[in-house]
Amino acid sequence: MRFTKYKCPSSRYCLFSFQGNNSCLYCGVDYRDMQTIWDKLYDFYRKHVPYHLRPGNLWWIFRGWAWDRFTTVKPRTLDHTWCDRRLLIRELVFETAAKFLETEGPKTQAEWDWQKEHNPNFYDAWHETQALIDWWKNSDMDGDEYEEQMLNGAVKLIKLSDYYWT
Ligand SMILES: [Zn+2]
Repeated sequence: MRFTKYKCPSSRYCLFSFQGNNSCLYCGVDYRDMQTIWDKLYDFYRKHVPYHLRPGNLWWIFRGWAWDRFTTVKPRTLDHTWCDRRLLIRELVFETAAKFLETEGPKTQAEWDWQKEHNPNFYDAWHETQALIDWWKNSDMDGDEYEEQMLNGAVKLIKLSDYYWT
């Protein structure tokens, strides 16, 4: 059982062919003899510990639950009280788009220029979204007119969201 890394005596790295036996083409060492105990433990871990139970994943699951609640959306325009679902869906679409503008997208002017040239769909979608969100944040409409505008805006945003990737 080996604890430290095997070094090929040929002064190069061991070279294994994908055909035939698993031994180095220079020094003839068998691949399994070359593996350290740490490699073997890691292989065991990858083979037997399910993906969703690995520490990195547990950390992300915990983070998603405790801190970054990516899938929990509460429209800022609504209180924690009853809301007509017809309107709730429209507000949810706007809230999700607003969060997208606030947390994602290019940070520097150079990145913006690059997007404009190479990813114009995203660039245009961003600015159309921005216009709709500005309207949403500053709107003082209410009643039927507001609901009608919200429906039209939400439909546009859902279509624009197809381009929300950078
Ligand atoms: Zn070798």
